Amino acid sequence: MNLRKALAKPIHISVRHIAAAFGVMVLCAGFLLLAGANLPPPRFVLNADQKSVDPLDYPFWREASDKLVGRKYVVLTFDDGFYKDGVIDESILDVLRWHHAHAMFFLVCGHLNEAADRVLSEIANTGNIIGDHSYDHEHLNGLNLVDLQHQIEGCSTRITSLTGHRPRFFRPPFGETSPQVMQVAQSAGMEQMLWNANSEDSWLKRPDQILSWSLEQTEDRSILLMHDRPATAVALDRVLTDLEQRGFRFVLPIERSPADHP
Ligand SMILES: [Zn+2]
Repeated sequence: MNLRKALAKPIHISVRHIAAAFGVMVLCAGFLLLAGANLPPPRFVLNADQKSVDPLDYPFWREASDKLVGRKYVVLTFDDGFYKDGVIDESILDVLRWHHAHAMFFLVCGHLNEAADRVLSEIANTGNIIGDHSYDHEHLNGLNLVDLQHQIEGCSTRITSLTGHRPRFFRPPFGETSPQVMQVAQSAGMEQMLWNANSEDSWLKRPDQILSWSLEQTEDRSILLMHDRPATAVALDRVLTDLEQRGFRFVLPIERSPADHP
């Protein structure tokens, strides 16, 4: 009876209550904007699809802050280096520096020579990640085990001897993989990394085309495929500027520790 009476009673919401609720909402939104603005990006690991990244330690308030301001994340990757003894890589590194960005360089060991040593240490010592892109950029499917090991482990060993660091990520040439390719890469201590956004710079020659493909394909948490090519180096400043204007921040994946595995 009492409950029925209570429910039948009209609820009075005063202007003061509405103003107070609105004030609390504005305060919460302001807090989320401020709290997320100056924090470093969350840590990312490679997604199980091997084509994108996932955040670790991503609390609700941080996600809400990112959504509120449209903040997004992308991993920049450059394949097939070195090009012209590292000249193109140096200009790519310059552009990355202007934007305080870091990237992953998937190197083809057969492209490395002594002239490129300096660039190799510059990449490694400026916070970028060096990955293994095979020894000779061959189609790996169909190779026998010994040749496969030479292409994958052999390149990893060469990168280790040149930089002092074992690569943790492997990208198969042309994105062509198989259980055996993945097994050999895993045995050499590497995670396979593909991509889900393609600048199409392996065949496009005009920087404006590379720009528009990169912008069209890149989504939140994408891995963007680019190459050490002259047209890419020319387009890169504009690609990064436009991505930043669209809310993107440039991140790198960390190596998964056993505790991070789902
Ligand atoms: Zn390649």
